[in-house]
Amino acid sequence: MFPTLRALFRLRRPRWDWVQVEVTTRCDAACVYCPRTACGGGWRDADMPMALFRRVLSACRGARRLHLQGWGEPLLHPRYPDMLAEAVAAGYVVGLTTNGVHLDADMAGVLVAAGVDMVALSLAGIGARNDAVRRGAPTARVLDALDALREAKARAGSLLPRVHLAYMLLRQDADGPEALPALLRGRGVETVVVSTLDHVSTPELADAAYAHADADELAALGRRLEMACTVAGAEGIRMVWRLPRPAHPSAHPSAHPSVHVATRPDGRHRHTVSPPDHSFTSDFSRRPDHPFTPGHEPPELWDVPGDMLHALAAREGDASCTENVGRAAVITVDGMVAPCVFAALPLCGGRPREGSRAVAAGRMLFGSVEDSPLAEVWRRPAYAAFRAAHARGMPPPPCEGCIKLRVH
Ligand code: SF4
Ligand code: SF4
Repeated sequence: MFPTLRALFRLRRPRWDWVQVEVTTRCDAACVYCPRTACGGGWRDADMPMALFRRVLSACRGARRLHLQGWGEPLLHPRYPDMLAEAVAAGYVVGLTTNGVHLDADMAGVLVAAGVDMVALSLAGIGARNDAVRRGAPTARVLDALDALREAKARAGSLLPRVHLAYMLLRQDADGPEALPALLRGRGVETVVVSTLDHVSTPELADAAYAHADADELAALGRRLEMACTVAGAEGIRMVWRLPRPAHPSAHPSAHPSVHVATRPDGRHRHTVSPPDHSFTSDFSRRPDHPFTPGHEPPELWDVPGDMLHALAAREGDASCTENVGRAAVITVDGMVAPCVFAALPLCGGRPREGSRAVAAGRMLFGSVEDSPLAEVWRRPAYAAFRAAHARGMPPPPCEGCIKLRVH
C-alpha cells in the first residue's frame, strides 16, 4: 500500500452512528424471553458508576447518538437524570428504551427537560397477552407512560422526545400488530418498530420465535404487517419491521454455517454463507479459545497488513448482520466494548472485568473505555478483523447461528 494511503487510514477518525451504553443491568420486571430472567441467579446486577459514565462520554467522541440502555431497565439507575443531562450537554443525541414502569409524570418531565431525542417503550402483545409475557411491565403501565410523556411534552411545548413503541412479535400473537393502531390512537407514538424474538434463551421459547418459520409463514406474516402498517399510517403512526429470512429446509439440521464458494466469470471468487439451522446461543464457553477474545486474532486474517484490515473494516455498514457492527458499538455496565448486545450479556460465572483480558464466557469484548478511548479500542487488530469479516459477508465463528445474520 502507498505510504500516503497508509497514513490516511491511520489518521481516519472513526465515526459511529450510535453507541449503546448499558447504564444498569438491574430490572424489576421479569419478561419470559429476557436472558436476564432466563439466567436467574446467574445474572450480575450492577449500575454503571457515574465516574465511568463520564469516562464513556469523553471516550465516545465521534459518536452521533448515545442510546442509554442495555440489558436492564435504565430508569432504575439512581443518577439517570444526571446521566441524561450530562450526555446532552456533551453534545450527544440521546435516546433510550424503557419498560415504562418508572416513567411517571415526574420522569416524563425529566426526559423532556433534558432534551432527550427519542424514547422507546416496549410491548410484546396487547393486554393480557403482553402482561403474561412481560411480567411486571403490564400494558396499562406502558399506556400510562405514553400519556405521561405526551402531557409533559404539551406542558413544555416540546416536540421531543419522539416516542417509539418497540413491539416484540411472538409467534403466538395472532392479532397484536393489527390492534396497535387503535390502542395507540392519540397517544403521541411516532413509530412502531416490530421485531421478532431473536435471542432464544431457553428451549421453551423456541416456539415463540420465527427462526424456523418457513417461507409461507413469513410471507403471511409480512402481509399481516403490511395491512397493519396501512391502518397505522391512517392514524399518523409509522410502522416498520424486520423479519428473518426463511430457515433453509434441511432433513439434517446443521450446527454450523456452510460456506459456498462460486467462481465468477472474471475469475474472482464469491463467498456465500448459509446460516446454521439452530438459534443463537450466547454460550461461547464451548470454544474457550475462540479467536475473538481480546488478545487473539482470527487466524485467516493474521497475515493481512494492519492498514488493509482497517480499510476492510471501515466499509460502510456491514453485509451480514443487522446490528450495524461496522458503525456502532456497545459499552457494557463495566466499560467493556462489544460489537452487539448479544455479545455483551452480563452473565456471571466469570470475573466481570479483568483489564483487557478475556472475561466471562459468552462475551465478545475488545477492550475497555476505562483504559482507552473508544477509537483506540475500535482500531485494535482483533476488533478490526471482526468487522472486516462481517464486511466481507463472512461472519466469524462467535456469530455462528445468530438470527441477526438472516433478518432483513
Ligand atoms: S424489561 Fe427489559 S431488561 Fe427487564 S426483564 Fe423485560 S426485557 Fe429484560
Ligand atoms: S451476528 Fe454477531 S455481531 Fe451480529 S448480532 Fe449476532 S452475535 Fe452480534
